Amino acid sequence: MTPNETKYIRLTNSWLQERHSYWSQKLVELNIFQKELNNVLFEIKYHVKSYNGMFRIRNGVSKIIIYPPNTGEVNQQFVDNVLVHEMIHQYIHENKLHDSSSHGAIFRKYMNAINYANIGVTINISTNSQKFVNTNICSYETHKILVLKFSRTFFLCKVKSTKVDYFTELILNHKIQWKEPLVGFGWYKTTNAMFNNYQTCVSKLHGAVYLNDEWNAMFEKLKLTKFEVISEL
Ligand SMILES: [Zn+2]
Repeated sequence: MTPNETKYIRLTNSWLQERHSYWSQKLVELNIFQKELNNVLFEIKYHVKSYNGMFRIRNGVSKIIIYPPNTGEVNQQFVDNVLVHEMIHQYIHENKLHDSSSHGAIFRKYMNAINYANIGVTINISTNSQKFVNTNICSYETHKILVLKFSRTFFLCKVKSTKVDYFTELILNHKIQWKEPLVGFGWYKTTNAMFNNYQTCVSKLHGAVYLNDEWNAMFEKLKLTKFEVISEL
């Protein structure tokens, strides 16, 4: 895999407006969204550590707020990832889709479709809790990936390298409660830069959910290499 070219941009409302309409059109072209999004207001807020983005409606007016990690130039990839994440919230709102929670099954359906389309954005449901640092990211960083197979879904998380044994023991000793029966799990490693922005699990597992029938195609794309399979997936 070739390293992603890192592009830095100075964040402005008009740049966000342009990207918003670019992604809105693109997602309609790809048949992921059935219609384009309305225009929204944008706001850029600095010095906020706990969020990367927010979609908000106040007095009937929709707004997307971006919280850049620093006041200088920011990584375009980071902004696109955050922007498209917020655009899913906007789409769900505008089309009156009723999701089970703010990142429920409907949100994840769009998230997975966008990630799977391989269009240069990677969305995950923990994008709000990870700050992206404006340094050159090493695309060859090796990530440790835990794949859990349930009866109807697969769950994928990026885990801190030093925590592999910790989570293995928790799972084997049934210390984690699952919503569905666990069928198997395995550890994989990858240098896929798509994972660079994923939140790393340290004490709790969180990550992406895939339905069984979308898993095979996803697995191909992820370029994962087995290094320890506890029970075959
Ligand atoms: Zn969100």
